[in-house]
Amino acid sequence: MYDLIIIGSGPAGLSAAVYAKRAGLNLLVLEKSPMSGGQVLNTYEVDNYLGMPGVNGFDMGMAFRAHAEKVGASFLEAEVIGVEDCGKTKKVMTRKETFETKTVLFATGAEHAHLNVPGEEELGGMGVSYCATCDGAFFRKKEVAVIGGGDVALEDAIYLARTSKKVTLVHRRDSFRGAHTLQEELLKLPNVEILYSHGVNRILGEDMVEGIELTDLKTGETKTVSLQGVFVAVGIRPTNELLKGLVDMDESGYVIAGEDCATNVPGIYVAGDLRKKPIRQIITAVSDGANAAVAAGAYCSAQ
Ligand code: NAP
Repeated sequence: MYDLIIIGSGPAGLSAAVYAKRAGLNLLVLEKSPMSGGQVLNTYEVDNYLGMPGVNGFDMGMAFRAHAEKVGASFLEAEVIGVEDCGKTKKVMTRKETFETKTVLFATGAEHAHLNVPGEEELGGMGVSYCATCDGAFFRKKEVAVIGGGDVALEDAIYLARTSKKVTLVHRRDSFRGAHTLQEELLKLPNVEILYSHGVNRILGEDMVEGIELTDLKTGETKTVSLQGVFVAVGIRPTNELLKGLVDMDESGYVIAGEDCATNVPGIYVAGDLRKKPIRQIITAVSDGANAAVAAGAYCSAQ
């Protein structure tokens, strides 16, 4: 019987592991893939984590992991297929075995949203990508588009402009929601063209991406841009499959939980991007992890 099982090993899960271990909880971290770190691993540069300006996302993810290992957290690579609330205990089912625990923390984060336009699925991996730092190198000296207007889209456009011949940043509104510092950096780049108020109708190409068809949302005019790569950065969706029917969520699928990360089901906690909250940043995920671990510890002591 564990005190705490943490599902997911991004910043929220790893922070929870450190705090829970230091609080003396008997815990296990279940991770779907061996490379821990969540979305942070795919971030080229993180510039807003306090005290670590410009840190490489991969290095940061690895440092978080090393810290959790150093305090003695146990990890197991296993995909969780279900969680059952049995009152004072919970069952966590993986493909191979079932674990019993007093509390469960879901730190499963979020996944890339899709544009849902023709050509996107068909050309996935053939020029359509959701990760500039993973796939940018394939588009060296080529022309690419980035779709979106949030932090990720701006960061991706800046990152790709370093190696690609030209980056066309397509955003559906006439102002970005991404950070001002990123906007300033972007506007200085000579090989970035910004198309505000444009929507993507379809991604063109037979076997490989050859272009995108756009509509100017102000004039209604349609045009085609020839290019070889499309980086979709239109936000994230919570990874909440395991929680459906188990805990309360909002209409977008984010789990409703307060500062202590406790859901409406006693003993079940959520931390990080999965939780309903105003800003989803690495620093707030780490903060959630700490709060959830402390709350889970208090719950175990009270049992
Ligand atoms: P985001 O902030 O939700 O931005 C998504 C962008 O995609 C928005 O500009 C949105 O347009 C656009 N969009 C959504 N659906 C679209 C569609 N169907 N067609 C065209 N455009 C569409 O998402 P994100 O940039 O992936 O960032 C996710 C979260 O991670 C954010 O909270 C962000 O601040 C955070 N983040 C943090 C760090 C860090 O901690 N350093 C780094 C990167 C990201 P509208 O603007 O019109 O809605």
